[in-house]
Amino acid sequence: MRLINKFGKTTIATSMVAATILGVANVSFASDSSASLDENAQGQQGQDRAIAFGNTKNPKNVIFMVSDGMGPSFNTAYRYYKNKSGAKTLKPTAFDKYLKGTNRTYPNDPKENVTDSAAGGTAFATGHKTYNGAISVDTNKKPVKSVLEQAKEQGKSTGLVITTELTDATPSVYAAHIDSRDKKDDIAQQFYKDRINGQHKVDVMLGGGSKYFGKNNGNLDKKFKRDGYDLVSNKSELNNSQSNKVLGTFSEKDMPLQIDAPKSNPLLVDMENSALNKLSKNNKGFFLMVEGASIDKAAHPNDITGVMSEMSGFETAFDNAINYAETHKDTLVVATADHSTGGLSIAKGKDYKWNPEAIHKMKHSGMYMTKQIVAGKDPEKVINEGYGINFPSQQLDKVKEAAKELHKLPKEGKGEKDEKVVAQTTKLQNAIQKPINDESHTGWTTNGHTGVDVNTYAYGPGSSKFKGNMENTQSAKNIFDFFKKDITSNQNQQ
Ligand SMILES: [Zn+2]
Repeated sequence: MRLINKFGKTTIATSMVAATILGVANVSFASDSSASLDENAQGQQGQDRAIAFGNTKNPKNVIFMVSDGMGPSFNTAYRYYKNKSGAKTLKPTAFDKYLKGTNRTYPNDPKENVTDSAAGGTAFATGHKTYNGAISVDTNKKPVKSVLEQAKEQGKSTGLVITTELTDATPSVYAAHIDSRDKKDDIAQQFYKDRINGQHKVDVMLGGGSKYFGKNNGNLDKKFKRDGYDLVSNKSELNNSQSNKVLGTFSEKDMPLQIDAPKSNPLLVDMENSALNKLSKNNKGFFLMVEGASIDKAAHPNDITGVMSEMSGFETAFDNAINYAETHKDTLVVATADHSTGGLSIAKGKDYKWNPEAIHKMKHSGMYMTKQIVAGKDPEKVINEGYGINFPSQQLDKVKEAAKELHKLPKEGKGEKDEKVVAQTTKLQNAIQKPINDESHTGWTTNGHTGVDVNTYAYGPGSSKFKGNMENTQSAKNIFDFFKKDITSNQNQQ
């Protein structure tokens, strides 16, 4: 142990000196390496590079990216979407060249063998398969440690960045332990109350869900502020934030989809950049989870416009993370999904054809148009403003009829729990989306999740550990292993 510690200290000291010349050293390193910078290509000079750039064999920093609901057909559809229609060769997406393997997503649930985001998240955050709805507790409802908690124990900085609520299942599995994902107030309370070495578990929290941090849940936001966190609620406040700790909530519940969002809202990549700026100040490294959560939210109601919008936002954030890892050699980037959603099919009916051009013409998502009509806006006006392709007049009559039926339902009791309202809203949204699903030839099989294996993309030191067809628990096992071997932050560990 002593030898390892001594080596560790030597490496840190040398890398701090090297950091002052990082710009120059980095350029020469990049220019003499035309091949992939994957760990396999690091060769004999790995030791020297470890001194210059930190440990390049074992990551000090991990950026774990989750694309909620992004099954393999989403990746293929997005490749079509990114290319001009009629192209003979489809250019790759930012993901394609980093494909390493696939994840098996099934949960350990007594009733269901297709996972939800809570069981899926618990698997890749903790290494334990559990029942649907569980937030980092095992099948006996006992808490199980997450890789973010391990990072914090070792003095690393930590972050959660997400497009939906911060108390949603995927971020929650990293910093909370509770028997049900629905207990969002309790989850937010745990974010504040639970400490590791006297510190809050998560240094950077950016996403939606302000309602769980405000006055209805004990003014947690003010308490975080008292403890040194910046509180921000729009893009310019986020850009001006100076503290290394921040709580940013940009909407009461889920953030709007990228295609529908006001300019004052940060995009996923903006939040990721802010997180990287803050977290990278810690010499011991960091763990950051970035989630493209709204891919799933758009896929549940079969909204192809929303799905492609969010895939685009996630791709930009992934590309940005790769750029970061290219200049920070001790950083591993992994991107995977917890499951697939909706049973997205590239073509439907009898035609051998999928037409993403139609989706490009859309001005708003189906979710957005539905919300506008639910809020009382004139259906015809909403459709005219949101659609960029022809909307048949017969179909417009169906939208108007569905809106009329919805508005007839009693106002009292309106809400997510009211089944009639939910059913009628679904009917309305389906009517709004039918023309774009038809014109683009997009098929769907369910409003829920599917059990297909999902793709895993990785780059940087340790990326080869994600090769092949793996259990979803292996991601956590790999990251625990990396942190155990991390010489910059484990001196105090046993
Ligand atoms: Zn879902």
